[in-house]
Amino acid sequence: MGSEHNVLADRIGALRAELPKDVTLVAVSKTKPAADIVAAMESGQLDFGENRVQELQEKAAALSPSIHWHQIGHLQTNKVKAIIPFVHLIHAVDSEKLLIEIERRAGNAGRIVDILLQVHIAQEDAKFGWEDGELRSFIEHGGLDDYSHVRVRGLMGMATLTEDTSQIRSEFNGLRQSFDRFVASGQSWDTLSMGMSGDWRIAVEEGSTMIRVGSSIFGDR
Ligand SMILES: *Cc1c(COP(=O)(O)O)cnc(C)c1O
Repeated sequence: MGSEHNVLADRIGALRAELPKDVTLVAVSKTKPAADIVAAMESGQLDFGENRVQELQEKAAALSPSIHWHQIGHLQTNKVKAIIPFVHLIHAVDSEKLLIEIERRAGNAGRIVDILLQVHIAQEDAKFGWEDGELRSFIEHGGLDDYSHVRVRGLMGMATLTEDTSQIRSEFNGLRQSFDRFVASGQSWDTLSMGMSGDWRIAVEEGSTMIRVGSSIFGDR
């Protein structure tokens, strides 16, 4: 590298210049080499997101301990143990079974682990997450009450992959309203993770506090 122009750091700098100060950028480095993360860090970026546990483990072992690692993709219960020692935030908690396993493994490790509950907001069936009503009922019935090693910080959602920006906006808006209702009813949440390369501007307009951007920083995968 040396004095070679650092395209990745420049892209992150440009993106951050456009982003309100209180919105966190998670740079999604999945499938990209560790060297890209090192280059991206030259911009001051410390939050990185991965969706495969093995890749996350390998990168975390190889790279700076000052990185905040975000597990952004669907997480299987049998993979929880591997990331508990170092993960900064788990974005896609979509079942009680997963909550219980995170609680158990975090307890064993003597950690309190921050998580987000993934809500299904897209029209596609393929995306994971709680249905809004199901989550509301789960929480109203004390579903989150028994955890001492899991700290719920808020919600995460993925909009439908469509050109229809009004649909994307209404999905993000619905998630924001749901988040606000949970906070109004007593949840001390501070994080709403929504927005990716194609739709983060809309997400921020609709009240996102954390965006997860991969391809528009690191290039196509
Ligand atoms: C891959 C991924 C992203 C980033 O997607 P881009 O379109 O490359 O910005 C964000 N969130 C999740 C959950 C992902 O799996």
